[in-house]
Amino acid sequence: MQVQKFDYVVVGTDSAGRVAAAEVLDIQRAAFAADMLPSAASRRERLDRLYALVADNEQAILDAISADFGGRARQEMVLTELFIVLSAVRQQRRKLGRWMRPRRVATPLHMLPGSSELMPQPLGVVGNIVPWNYPCQLALLPAAAALAAGNRVMIKPSELTPAFSHLLAQLAAQYFNPAELAVIEGGVEESRAFAALPFDHLVFTGSTTVGRQVAIAAAHNLTPVTLELGGKSPAIIDESCDLAESAPRLAFGKLFNAGQTCVAPDYALVPRARVADFVREVSAAALAMYPQFAGNQQYTSIISERHYARLQQLVRDAQEQGATVVRLGAEAERPHDGERRMAPVLLLDVTPDMAVMREEIFGPLLPVLPYDTLQQAIAFINERERPLALYWFGRDRRNCQQVLGSTISGGVTVNDALWHAAQENLPFGGVGASGTGAYHGEHGFLAFSKQKPIYRQARLNGFGLFRPPYGRVFDTLADFLKRHM
Ligand code: NAD
Repeated sequence: MQVQKFDYVVVGTDSAGRVAAAEVLDIQRAAFAADMLPSAASRRERLDRLYALVADNEQAILDAISADFGGRARQEMVLTELFIVLSAVRQQRRKLGRWMRPRRVATPLHMLPGSSELMPQPLGVVGNIVPWNYPCQLALLPAAAALAAGNRVMIKPSELTPAFSHLLAQLAAQYFNPAELAVIEGGVEESRAFAALPFDHLVFTGSTTVGRQVAIAAAHNLTPVTLELGGKSPAIIDESCDLAESAPRLAFGKLFNAGQTCVAPDYALVPRARVADFVREVSAAALAMYPQFAGNQQYTSIISERHYARLQQLVRDAQEQGATVVRLGAEAERPHDGERRMAPVLLLDVTPDMAVMREEIFGPLLPVLPYDTLQQAIAFINERERPLALYWFGRDRRNCQQVLGSTISGGVTVNDALWHAAQENLPFGGVGASGTGAYHGEHGFLAFSKQKPIYRQARLNGFGLFRPPYGRVFDTLADFLKRHM
């Protein structure tokens, strides 16, 4: 076993140079125990280093992610892997002083003159298991919130982004003492072992299937979890929708990162009479953004051969079962060897039992389902698992309210797609099968803090009246409280 040296601690590594997760956890726990309420200044200093880790290495980060994808649109990465991360780190840094302050809570009359407050306290060590689709953002946004809240952080990136995972591990070791923040590399086995560690909080972002396993592993330790999962997010096109305005927005949401986005609109519910117009407008909008898909550097590749084959199989399965397939772009089939930029496909005449309507799609396929009444569209959504996101496009406010009030989803963007997830001040998270808990902005700080309730008793108070031996005074008091409090 080699030994890797850091400023203050020594961490063992295996023959591949990987640090041992359980050992890092022990080190982080000990460091946390020695400083259980880090000052605002030390939290800001950690966030400054997290900021620098990204800002100093932007090109290397983009290159690594692009290599992992076999070609990822640079502009998309600049927005989602750099800008969103840097602005979130800045926000956490700017606001943490205010968020850290204990907050007075009103004390009811009968408990006066005592006083009440909530004291935000870090939880300890936060683990973070990361998927491949936004590898930098989903590793570092939870990390930023956890550091702001005063925690230590361990990150397990995905095995499907080996170049980025390795880079992040190296950068973490350069910018952080592993007692503060560490990255654990490895495959699914390492992820499984990671999930079984007794963290003080565990964040998991990934599929619902694996999320369930992570929840079970965490339950053994009674480790609280934030589960950021996936699912099939619907887009409802209302009767009142202006398709010329909405189609480009929907197409953008679907094709950003080639559909490999947790909040991508999965399928569209469209008034029956407008299906043909919808298909025409969405196709035109997609082609206006991407005149071609093969070789287009602004269009992202599918992450792996396996994922590419799965998407092709979803189309084939739907077609075999009677779906109408509308392929966009000239490239009906795979254009170049070694390239996984997949031309979008619209699917009509789909049925709920086709695989494409049973699984989360996570790629550039859009089933278009006609509906006759809004109630029918709402019922279709409510018969399924709670989606992570829901999109509604239209002008009719009453219909919009009806949809908002009679569906439950992790979040909603009205008249656009994806953007609620980028609004840092809104909590981001799923509900039911699409997740548990939420973070972003102050909600992230709160997710990784214990809001410790404290009641301070006053020197002079009337609480002696609640002590035995009980008599008439107690009965009168209890009667009064029952009636008036
Ligand atoms: P995944 O569930 O296959 O893998 C996610 C991570 O879990 C990986 O790091 C993997 O190593 C690890 N893992 C695999 N098996 C494990 C186990 N048994 N125990 C512990 N960890 C294990 O997901 P993915 O394919 O990387 O990502 C795509 C999925 O993630 C989609 O479903 C998508 O909707 C979802 N997602 C959700 C959000 C969100 O914020 N809600 C964001 C991005 C992606």
